[in-house]
Order: sequence, then structure tokens, then C-alpha cells
Amino acid sequence: MEVRAPKGTVDMLPDVARVWEHLLRVAQELFARYGYEPIYTPIFEHTEVFTRGIGEATDIVSKEMYTFLDRADRSLTLRPEGTASVVRAALEHNLVPKGAAAKLYYAGAMFRYERPQKGRMRQFWQIGVEALGMAEPSIDAEVIALLVRFFEAAGIPSANTRLLVNSMGDEHCRPAYREELAAFISAHAADLCDECNRRADTNPLRAFDCKNPTCRTVMAEAPLLRDRLCEECGTHYGSVKHGLDELGIVYEEDPSLVRGLDYYTRTVFEIQAEGLGAQNAIGGGGRYDRLMEEYGGPSTPGLGFALGFERTMLAMQAAGVTVPELPRAEVYVARVDDSVATTVFSACQALRDAGIAAEMDHQARSLKSQFKQADRLSALLTVIVGPEEAAAGEVTVRDMRTREEARVALDDLIPRVDALLRRDHR
Ligand code: AMP
Repeated sequence: MEVRAPKGTVDMLPDVARVWEHLLRVAQELFARYGYEPIYTPIFEHTEVFTRGIGEATDIVSKEMYTFLDRADRSLTLRPEGTASVVRAALEHNLVPKGAAAKLYYAGAMFRYERPQKGRMRQFWQIGVEALGMAEPSIDAEVIALLVRFFEAAGIPSANTRLLVNSMGDEHCRPAYREELAAFISAHAADLCDECNRRADTNPLRAFDCKNPTCRTVMAEAPLLRDRLCEECGTHYGSVKHGLDELGIVYEEDPSLVRGLDYYTRTVFEIQAEGLGAQNAIGGGGRYDRLMEEYGGPSTPGLGFALGFERTMLAMQAAGVTVPELPRAEVYVARVDDSVATTVFSACQALRDAGIAAEMDHQARSLKSQFKQADRLSALLTVIVGPEEAAAGEVTVRDMRTREEARVALDDLIPRVDALLRRDHR
């Protein structure tokens, strides 16, 4: 047996898991202020949820999905992203009846069979929101502002990030543009890589994402969807930008920002961070007004974003952000010998029941090594229980900061500890 996590996955050890839980708390508090409610969908779905929603020709569907047959020969896929599942759930449970709106957020692991590198994993963690039922451009600006505010709340200075926005048009203007772009790619076939040439038929917009320098030079001359938007899309895009201006959100227009999923219509956006190398997109999203219909549901506009935990953490590290550590032990309860084991055990429990982080030894350590353990845990107080004191219904409380000691009645332990800890917090 290989005692190693699969390639492209990592164990989220306590140091990192603590940051994840911190960011979850930041998200929960912030998203609630914007009216979002939590939703948890299954980690796997029927494969069609993704093939239909994300699109057959996309990188995700064509080469990155973890798809398997279950014991009844159903094709299932580990979710590569969150939007398709949330929209599927919203349709299944009629969360957005006609004229209604829903604001949902999710957090969890996503799976993509990609080539692992810094900031790119096969199992990675996302936090995302979906705003369903709303077509007005003000919600686009609100959702973008929320993503900006999230990274600010995570401590990443806005000077370290760039917000890019673009419009992908809709079913009225994009098809003709797609044709035009495919024709452009065919006309420059000799100068473009094989992948870009293949894209001419399947997904020409993705040619803008090619990293090959020659392809980039050629694509810099390609026609832009921004210049081909129909009137409605142009007006919508203008209002989204106006909304961002109103909110004082700084953005850059990037007409080549296309993002890799077919379901996007109109607004798309991405936030990139400094100091991350090639995988610098820490979060992004867009509008997907046709997605619910793609699943056979009623026409329901929607948009959302997803942010990646690993890259957000890299951006936090690059900015020198540290996450406050929760105390593992404010109080350490030490036993002088085994005769007082029960007193130690119940005193420790009583402290915890009173809302105080308390720890004790379960490994028959000597008193000296219990004190060392108390130091390692950065305990602020040590409660020392000896046989004579216990017989008198008392314990010794040592303040580790001042080294002062006092005998305290066991009955009085909680209020005394509370008072000593509170003094520290003043
Ligand atoms: P996407 O759904 O591709 O727009 O991804 C949204 C966010 O998830 C990105 O901005 C990244 O922060 C993160 N992300 C996407 N793919 C990966 C991956 N393979 N490994 C780590 N993070 C990822």
C-alpha cells in the first residue's frame, strides 16, 4: 500500500485547515449581509449535469472530469465546479418560482484532472455564490463587489489584486461573432498552434486563453466580441460598469477574458492576485442566463462567482496576512499524582463546560512534562491539583504570565479562572 495522498491532492493539515475555516467564517458573515443562504449539493452528480451545463467542448468536460460508473452502471461525475449543481438543485426543488429570486452560497471540494502545479490541484476547495432570478445589471455589480469585499476581508490588500471584466454577449450576438472568430482563426491557421486550430471548430473563444506567444500575437489582432455586442448586451454591460463606478470598485476591461465554460452569457469577471505565478486567478464568475433552460427548466437568469481557497491562501501569504489562532488551552490542569486523577478530570470538564479552553494529560506524564506541555500549548493558567490540596477541597492556580500562585477553593475555580482570563483580555 502506498501511504501517500493521490497526485494533485493534499491533506489539509491543521495549520491550513485553520485558514480554511477562518475564510469560511469570513464568507458566512459577509455573504449573510448580502442576503445569501447556504446550500450543500452532492459531491457527485449525473454526468449530464456537467456535460450539458459546462459544455462538451470545454477543457473541463473534454479532459478534466472524474467520471465513473456506479454499481448500477450510471455515469456519475465528481463535481468540477459548483454552479451546475446549484442550478440543478434550484430547478429540482423549484427554489426560484416565476418572479422570485434566490441567493445561495456553497463551500466545498471540487475535482478536476489537471496537471498539478503551484495553485492548481486535482482536488481543490472553493467558496462560491449564485444569485438566481435577477436579470438587472445592478445585481452583477453587487456580486462583483461582494467578491472584491471578500478578498479585502481576507486581508489581501486591493493594491495586490486586479479585477477584470468583460461581456460575452448572448444568443443574439455571440453566434455570429463565433463564426467570425472561427473564420479569423482559419485564415491564420498557419501561425496558430494545433490546439487553437482545433478550437476554431469547437470553442474558438478559448483561443484567447492560449499561452503560446505566437498565438497571442495573432489573437491580439482578432475581432473582439466587445465590438460586436447586440444593443441589449451593450446596454447591460454599460450599466454593470456604471454600477461598479457607483460603488467605487476599480476594474479593468479585458475584452479577451472569456473563461472556460460554455454557460456564460453577458457579464464575466475575474480577480487576479500578485505573486502567484501562472495560476493567478483567485476568483471569478459570470452570468449564465440560459443554464436553467439547458436543464429543461424555465428561463431563469442567474450569475455567481467561485473563489479558490488554495490560491486565496497563497495570495494571503504573499501579502503577509496571518490568521488569528484560536486558543487550544487557556488553562492546563496538571495532576501531582494519580490519586487526584478524578479531580483533575472533572475540573477540566467543568472548565470546558464553562466555555474555557482547558487541557489535561492522558498519557501518564510526569508533573514536569505536564508543565512543559502547558508551555507548548501556551496555556495562560495552570491549575495544579495535589493530594493534600484536593483533600482540603482546593487547588493551586498559577498564572503563567506573572508566575503568581494562589490557593483556590475548587468550588470557586471557575469564577477565579474567569476573572484571571478576563484580566488578560482587558
Ligand atoms: P473556475 O471555476 O475555473 O472559474 O475557478 C474559480 C476559481 O477556483 C479560480 O479562480 C481558482 O481560484 C480556483 N481553481 C480553479 N481550478 C483550480 C485548480 N485546479 N486548483 C486550485 N484552484 C482552482
